[in-house]
Amino acid sequence: LFARPWIFIRGVPAMKFLPPEGPPEVAFAGRSNVGKSSLINALVGQKGLARTSNTPGRTQELNYFVPEGYSGEAGDLPPMALVDMPGYGFAKAPKAQVEAWTRLIFDYLRGRVTLKRVYLLIDARHGVKKIDEEVMDLLDKAAVSYQLVLTKSDKIKQAALAKLLEETRRKIGKRPAAFPEILATSAEKGRGIDDLRAAIVLAASA
Ligand code: GDP
Repeated sequence: LFARPWIFIRGVPAMKFLPPEGPPEVAFAGRSNVGKSSLINALVGQKGLARTSNTPGRTQELNYFVPEGYSGEAGDLPPMALVDMPGYGFAKAPKAQVEAWTRLIFDYLRGRVTLKRVYLLIDARHGVKKIDEEVMDLLDKAAVSYQLVLTKSDKIKQAALAKLLEETRRKIGKRPAAFPEILATSAEKGRGIDDLRAAIVLAASA
């Protein structure tokens, strides 16, 4: 699946623009600038699929990606879709905008039946923040399976990474919808990408 090209099919600014529920969806969420675009690009092995940008908060839509070569007609649906969610927690954005996309994120996470798993990205330099805890609260309440992924692991030392993994494991220990294994990745060094691909394929086929 990850050997073939993936394409962007739709940007969803509000719930009413969601495609009809079809293939299993795996979504990526995280604070602005967590390295989400870079990680998605590394996953599919395509530099420009998800837009990488140094301007936090620029992507404000749910962006849908599917493997190339499916018509989308009944009987020819792609085996899964990847959904790049708007980054959250960007303090400088206008309040009305923050509210609009917070609502979109929450509505999508709560209401999407075909959503199989959320990959919740955490910057290895910063660890789990309060807003990440809030997103986990929501996912636990909605019983949406999620797995934590540490990003930019190349930016911290091995010992610090081990400590962060340990701490984070403890934090999610009692969370009902959290997958117990935490993945450590670096889009830059290509670390942990194969493991993430395998986890995604499993989650989508569950
Ligand atoms: P997004 O806003 O979550 O989509 O984050 P981006 O993918 O645009 O990345 C934000 C910044 O972090 C950019 O400057 C990236 O070059 C940098 N970045 C992303 N992934 C990595 C990584 O694995 N290692 C390092 N060192 N930097 C990264």
